[in-house]
Amino acid sequence: MDQSAETTFMNTSCYVAGKAVSGPSFTVKSPFTNQPVGTVAAAGRADSEKAIVAALGFRDRLSRYDRSQVLERTRQLVSERHEEFARLISSEAGLCLRESRYEVGRALDVLRFSSIEALRDDGQIFSCDISQQGKARKIFTMREPLGCAVAITPFNHPLNQVAHKLAPAIAAGTPVILKPSEKTPLTAIRFAETLYEAGLPGPMLSVLLGPTAEIAEPLVKDERIELVTFTGSVAVGKKIAVTAGYKRVVLELGGNDPLIILEDGDIDMAVHLAAEGSYRNSGQRCTAVKRILVHDAIADDFVARLVAKTKEYKCGDPMDPETRVGTVIDEASAIYLETVLKEALANGAKLLTGGERKGALFEPTVIDHVSREARMVICESFGPLAPVLRVRDLSDAIQVANSTAFGLSSGVVTNSLDKAIRAIKELRCGTVNINEVPGFRVENSPFGGVKDSGLGIKEGVIEAIKLFSTIKTFSLPW
Ligand code: NAP
Repeated sequence: MDQSAETTFMNTSCYVAGKAVSGPSFTVKSPFTNQPVGTVAAAGRADSEKAIVAALGFRDRLSRYDRSQVLERTRQLVSERHEEFARLISSEAGLCLRESRYEVGRALDVLRFSSIEALRDDGQIFSCDISQQGKARKIFTMREPLGCAVAITPFNHPLNQVAHKLAPAIAAGTPVILKPSEKTPLTAIRFAETLYEAGLPGPMLSVLLGPTAEIAEPLVKDERIELVTFTGSVAVGKKIAVTAGYKRVVLELGGNDPLIILEDGDIDMAVHLAAEGSYRNSGQRCTAVKRILVHDAIADDFVARLVAKTKEYKCGDPMDPETRVGTVIDEASAIYLETVLKEALANGAKLLTGGERKGALFEPTVIDHVSREARMVICESFGPLAPVLRVRDLSDAIQVANSTAFGLSSGVVTNSLDKAIRAIKELRCGTVNINEVPGFRVENSPFGGVKDSGLGIKEGVIEAIKLFSTIKTFSLPW
């Protein structure tokens, strides 16, 4: 890989059971320069078949120690290549280096926690002489790996989303076929190469890219696959739910998370959280702040301060270390943001700062008085928009927060314990963070949404290991 240029360049290929494939190549372009940053030799149907057969035929199960060691060695290698991975992410995703470096740090945590979990015994023991129907026996549980899982990942965290699928699978001992986003395949493939280098046996991992009808859809449908774990949009997630048939399906889908700011909250903190939540990762986090619900009494003060804060978020060249907001994933996505902004303004919203688009760059933008029916806040706007909606009180805020199809996460700024507890109980979503952004988490805590954001099945390293395995019980006379 060329490290000297502003962006990186990587010629690579898909992998079947650890071996590079030699299909026709496609080009990956930088969303900022629109110049090629790599090529990938794609896979075909025959490669999928080989990947499944290799995974199912892999009998040389790794010990807990071996799995933990592979993950720990990978962590060390990724850590040594921290800058290389960050530059690769920025090159193909347009995320600024500051965000890419942060993302690599998160992936290192995923590897560390997975390596630790791989060593932990996961069995339980049930004494059976506990009722009149019982007997002098004990029931034991153990977790067994699946034969083969398929993991499908989105573009917005090109490394961490992939790490969140692969590391728990390896900890569980389950072979995986990864289908990363076609928009950001280079980071995923480089991560796979690093796993092989760290000692992961080839059949434990294949990475396939190619036309959806040839690769992703047949894999989702295949009856030999025991689990499809998907992170991405609601539309594709719901399609997968239909296509997958009789198999375990994990869906981590979109969101339009609210940040609720109450009149008793710390306004400096509120401004900081609103800006960080709306603009970090170019606003392209499933848990980005996508609606700011502010109490009427403090709204004018809050908005003025948010506008000032927003000007600190320099938007531009992803490779410039000073940049805080790089591009969104492509020009079409930036044009969509422009469209929902124009719609909101036509319906009475006020543009206070930002709003300019140049190619795939979209400025951090504060819009006030956004209507509750605006497409910008009802659907998911995946970009650096900070739409402000004014609310009368906590009841009103909860009503607005719960009014859309999504239910991923939320944040509430308040100094009232009563209001915090009420929000925790009444917000219908997977997470409620008090005095934090909706996106706050650690990599091993349970994570996932309800309603259109997901089926309530959690990921995060510990929960994901459970999803990649099955409990077997056995009993003995005792
Ligand atoms: P996407 O368009 O749904 O694509 C996600 C993945 O699905 C890509 O690898 C894509 O492949 C693949 N795919 C497309 N059509 C498919 C089909 N018919 N069958 C199987 N796979 C198919 O999502 P995205 O635009 O990359 O990502 C952004 C979305 O992800 C946002 O909605 C965001 O909120 C969500 N997200 C959710 C979470 C969470 O944890 N809840 C986390 C991050 C992101 P191609 O690239 O080849 O099209």
